[in-house]
Amino acid sequence: MKANLPTTEPKRVAAWQQDDTYARALAAAQGPAFTLHDGPPYANGHIHQGHMLNKVLKDFVGKVQTMSGRPAKIFPGWDCHGLPIELAVDKELGSKKRDMSKVAIRKACRAHAQKFIDIQREEFQRLGVFMAWAEPYTTMAYGYEARIVRELAKVVRAGAVYRGKKPVYWCIVDRTALAEAEVEYDDHDSPSVYVAFPLTAGLGKVLPALGDRPVDLAIWTTTPWTLPANLAIAVHPTFQYLVYELRGRPTVVASDLLISFLAAVAPGDLVEAKRQVGGTRLDSASLTHPERILGYVEGRALEGLQYRHPLVDRTSPVILGDHVTLEAGTGLVHTAPGHGQDDYAVGKRYGLAPFAPVDAAGHFTEEAGAPWSGQQIFHANPAIVAALADKGALLNAPNEHVRHSYPHCWRCKKPVIFRATDQWFISMDATSLRQRALAAIEDVEWIPAWGHDRIQGMLQGRPDWCISRQRAWGVPIPAFYCEGCGESLLDPALLDRVADRFETEGADAWFERPAADFMPAGQRCPKCQADRFRKEEDILDVWFDSGVSHAAVLDARGVTLPADLYLEGSDQHRGWFQSSLLCNLAAGRAGSPFRRCLTHGFVVDEKGQKLSKSLGNYIDPQKLLAQHGAEIVRLWAAASNYEQDVPLSEGIMKQLAESYRKIRNTLRFALGNLSDFDPGKDRVPAGELPVLDRYFRSVLHGFLGRVREAYAKHNFNQVHHEAAYLCSTTLSALYFDILKDRLYCSGPKDVERRAAQTVLHEIVDLLCRALAPILSFTCEEAYAFLPGHRESVFVAGLPPVDAAALDEKLEAQMAGVLGVRAEVQKRLEDLRREKTIGSSLEARVSLAAAEPLEAFQRLGGSLEELFIVSQVELAPELRVERAAGRRCERCWKHLPEVPENPPLCRRCARVVQEFSSRQPS
Ligand SMILES: [Zn+2]
Ligand SMILES: [Zn+2]
Ligand SMILES: [Zn+2]
Repeated sequence: MKANLPTTEPKRVAAWQQDDTYARALAAAQGPAFTLHDGPPYANGHIHQGHMLNKVLKDFVGKVQTMSGRPAKIFPGWDCHGLPIELAVDKELGSKKRDMSKVAIRKACRAHAQKFIDIQREEFQRLGVFMAWAEPYTTMAYGYEARIVRELAKVVRAGAVYRGKKPVYWCIVDRTALAEAEVEYDDHDSPSVYVAFPLTAGLGKVLPALGDRPVDLAIWTTTPWTLPANLAIAVHPTFQYLVYELRGRPTVVASDLLISFLAAVAPGDLVEAKRQVGGTRLDSASLTHPERILGYVEGRALEGLQYRHPLVDRTSPVILGDHVTLEAGTGLVHTAPGHGQDDYAVGKRYGLAPFAPVDAAGHFTEEAGAPWSGQQIFHANPAIVAALADKGALLNAPNEHVRHSYPHCWRCKKPVIFRATDQWFISMDATSLRQRALAAIEDVEWIPAWGHDRIQGMLQGRPDWCISRQRAWGVPIPAFYCEGCGESLLDPALLDRVADRFETEGADAWFERPAADFMPAGQRCPKCQADRFRKEEDILDVWFDSGVSHAAVLDARGVTLPADLYLEGSDQHRGWFQSSLLCNLAAGRAGSPFRRCLTHGFVVDEKGQKLSKSLGNYIDPQKLLAQHGAEIVRLWAAASNYEQDVPLSEGIMKQLAESYRKIRNTLRFALGNLSDFDPGKDRVPAGELPVLDRYFRSVLHGFLGRVREAYAKHNFNQVHHEAAYLCSTTLSALYFDILKDRLYCSGPKDVERRAAQTVLHEIVDLLCRALAPILSFTCEEAYAFLPGHRESVFVAGLPPVDAAALDEKLEAQMAGVLGVRAEVQKRLEDLRREKTIGSSLEARVSLAAAEPLEAFQRLGGSLEELFIVSQVELAPELRVERAAGRRCERCWKHLPEVPENPPLCRRCARVVQEFSSRQPS
């Protein structure tokens, strides 16, 4: 048994494949199937540390289940469509792409995905992961593409899909809508702009003192580029507002925000106030100029007032909204219904259009107004601020910025915007999808438990699901548009026809064939009766692709739903867990497609920082395997507290390699003493084992019981701890030391040696089978060396706990004896230091004949063995001293019985005699 893991492991992987070990292990499991459904990694690039952690954890679960009798056949999956592959292919194709058809681009994307499926498959296999590699699922398989459309048809049939113009996350670099899960929050510097919008008439009706003096509404924004799209100003109906005379102009602002407002726009007013009140307490009543507060008004009294836009020739209303807060700004919210979700929602109640005069690449359209048309929105920010200043509408200084958390695109890392476009949506409420999803998560077991609250919060707050994307590489949304009246047609019966064609031709058919090929003869527009249609160009959000995997894979392959387990990174509460749940419910099925949902954290460095090439803490999985082997990676995954972020570093891997060495050496020592042992003939019945051996069997089966319990809770960390402690402390440092005399000095066939071998055999057998889910390579290898074994360790299965081996009383007694042993060892060490003795076998021990007397008596002749000394007797007090007698030259025990010639103890004399009588003379 050599530990050269990086070289031996690939051979073991090949042998597993050749022998079809996984299939045979599945066949050996006779219980009901266990379904762990593999969430599909994206088929782009080599695997990273997160993939390693995920797939290895899944492998642990699959092997534990299969080896405990529930066959867990896992179909590995790959997510193939979508933007990252399309962008990678864009880059590869370069300028060639311009001359290529959509179908040709899609073919290049397909080839790219296939290439990385092959690469990743090999990398996952190299980790020793057992999955049905010959039966994978890919979201680009024709059958899968067809099933996506059939699932969409079900959602359409249920009445949950609609087409609408709503603001969605939009990346102006990638020119596409983004899903919630494709947006990351990061710090961003934005302009901080306070703007005065003049009311068209005075506030005299509400505050007679003001008469018909012109009044301004003050707003605050960090996106000046959305100002051309301003269609309203929202106030909270119950907040108190006041009119402040700002530089001679009555200006409306929320009372509670006056101080911070003045700090931003008229700090001079506040300096005076500070002087007056000693800077201790600032509220609007302690201002120097109370006379500048011209009156108070409740928000609802402002509803319906009209104001003029300072930059555009337009008059708009003040509206009421409960989304207005007092966290920042002025309490009056600039509202652009085409560029914000709250704005859209409140605007809808007031009949405002989702006006978004910005094109896909982020340039203002002509609708934005002549000065801005054609400009990139972020570049236009300073010009817009300057124009406000020109018109006297800018209240604070130009060029002020604020650093805040802002959504960014997950691909290009650039800030995203909200932009209203015509998109397809799955309504969260039309079919009570939100309510049903919230009910369904109550029936799921979330591990860790906070997963429940996390997904619950996300479901409660999420907007309708925008399922359309403006890209080429995906499954089309098979809608049609009437050439006569423009009406859109998304008909479930037509979708099923499209799916039939995809089944044999793939989704490319949509881009290759005319609309008529997907329609029955004589299809007419339900609105205008025209008979000519064009096809939708948008494709489906890839989260819909993977979200239907339970249907396209499990259901399609005859696996009963719900699955027993989904196991992914904790970012999937807003990704795959959620899309799977929503797809299942939206298609009209009940409940969650998974019973239990287990999440793990991200892989980070020792300081908790994300691993990245730019930070220099990135560890290449391939290098890790080449240096330590997959087995140490597996041990890392097992030893991790995966509910939190999982640190990975060279130092951690070295520690684990050390822990691994102890486990491996334990197996090695035991196997090294079994070469002449035939369990069929030589095994000593449990009842006839010496009491010491019975004690270690009891410990071994206690260990096994705890390991099985830990497995049931997916607590691999505990398994690692138990195994490391058993191997290093209980076995290597104690039992194996004790056994050496019996193993090396007893006659080969002596019953005490056979007894030791019986237990060593059981140790290897049990350890290999119990740890095989984690240390698959080592346990399979060691098991193959075990005399009498017939099968792969995975076919052998997890060993049962032998209840008869458990002896609590003996373990309690031994706890006392081992306490005495520790004391004896200290005394032996003292004698060694004084040079009274060399080895402990030169010592005799007089044990205080008190507690644990019963245990001493029970152990009897085994006490010398346990203490590794030559003589033990019971005496009034504990004494450790040099043993009397001569040293046996064979076993080095000091005994009075050893004669001068030959200097052998009785046992050794007999063994030598047996040896020589067997030698030919
Ligand atoms: Zn982007
Ligand atoms: Zn029509
Ligand atoms: Zn001897």
